[in-house]
Amino acid sequence: MLSRPKLMIPGPVDITSEVQEAMSIPSRPHYGPEWLSLYGEIQEMSKQLFGTRNELYVMAGPGTMALEAALGSALEPGAVVLVPSNGFFADRLVDLLEGLALQPWRVTAPLGEPVLPAAIAEALQAHPEVEALAVVHHETSTGVLNPLEGILDVARDHELLTIVDAVSSLGGVPLPVDEWGIDLCVSVANKALETPPGVALLSISARAAEAIKRREAKRGWYLDLKTWQWYAEEWGHWHPTPTTMPTSNINALHYSLQTLLEEGIEARYAQYRAAAHAVRAGLRALDCPMFAEDAYASPLATAFEMPEGIKPDLLRNYLRQKAGVLISVGIGALHGKILRVGHIGQARRRDYVVAFLLGMEDALSDQGLDIQRGSSLVALEGLLN
Ligand SMILES: *Cc1c(COP(=O)(O)O)cnc(C)c1O
Repeated sequence: MLSRPKLMIPGPVDITSEVQEAMSIPSRPHYGPEWLSLYGEIQEMSKQLFGTRNELYVMAGPGTMALEAALGSALEPGAVVLVPSNGFFADRLVDLLEGLALQPWRVTAPLGEPVLPAAIAEALQAHPEVEALAVVHHETSTGVLNPLEGILDVARDHELLTIVDAVSSLGGVPLPVDEWGIDLCVSVANKALETPPGVALLSISARAAEAIKRREAKRGWYLDLKTWQWYAEEWGHWHPTPTTMPTSNINALHYSLQTLLEEGIEARYAQYRAAAHAVRAGLRALDCPMFAEDAYASPLATAFEMPEGIKPDLLRNYLRQKAGVLISVGIGALHGKILRVGHIGQARRRDYVVAFLLGMEDALSDQGLDIQRGSSLVALEGLLN
């Protein structure tokens, strides 16, 4: 029916027309005084958002690329890295570590549950060889927000280098990088920063910067952060990054960050919470069980199960075709078991949330369930119009 559905997936997201316009400016040089001023402002705004005084790079590419750069540049081959493991993106970290000849070591929790600090503390007792911790903050595949602050406290007790995949959390939930002691923190433009895909952000603590400098061998060139350090230090007055940059994307990111900081980050957090609350309450009214319990549920994406006997893919296809709303299926082991709806981008708005919930009502009615029209619209307060 509708050729372009409302995106209610956990990224990429529907952006505002203003961000779209900022994206559509012609390409410009990625060097020289004008560029340096824009790049510098982005670094400053991002540092505010990350709550850090650390070095911060804007890299061209997806989040996975920046994670690969962080892990490969700061750790020597063979290093043992603890990975709290409770979903697809933790598995991705394990794959990255293996690909880099590092040694991942999992502490696992069931899908849909958080990995708790106590489990990590206990696991570490018998394993003094662990050098680093690589952890997903928001496990987007299950909608679980791992208790990062507590996990990082444990890491600090053991003096581990800490690498955080904040790809889908930064900008959507508090994440004070310096206060919590994150050495390398990775995020992207196209999730809670609500900008088109193509750009990753990476903050690097002084300790991590030293570790990177100390490594003798290089791992490739673009993905070795030594290269980025060199350009920042030696060419920073003219050409601060190693390569050509997607200047239009970065212009859009500048606009998006500016808007976010002007509107206030706390206000944005509240909008995500309102959207998640409306969706969770609405789905519960339709007898759809939540996959993650409220205490660990992220306000950025909600994973849910179906009423008895209903197939997730049927609902998802109905929503796409009849309601013009695109949500996500479960990935990996959760395919065919859950659906996921994102609250980031324009999906935090009332019209998106209402279109989704009414679409769900229609889809379930279509499956023969007795649903009263409007019965899922039970918690719409606080939603952005
Ligand atoms: C989306 C996502 C990624 C992957 O990001 P890419 O930009 O596609 O590489 C990694 N981790 C988490 C938690 C994500 O949500």
